[in-house]
Amino acid sequence: MVMARKSLCPVCKKKARPRAANASFPFCSAHCRMIDLGKWLGEEYRVADKQSEETEDELPLQAPDDPAHRQN
Ligand SMILES: [Zn+2]
Repeated sequence: MVMARKSLCPVCKKKARPRAANASFPFCSAHCRMIDLGKWLGEEYRVADKQSEETEDELPLQAPDDPAHRQN
């Protein structure tokens, strides 16, 4: 299961430099490491939750043939 040949950054899926040359290993850069840290702090999960809530409550659209709107 260990992919020793190339390590890909878990955040952006680009090639990450080997641990020996990369202080942010297994991430490609310190930037991606921070993104991953942000996920663990819940930032990304919170966004995902909000999105699923919005898709779940479908707002009732005004029915086009509601009698109140059809006065002719
Ligand atoms: Zn990356």
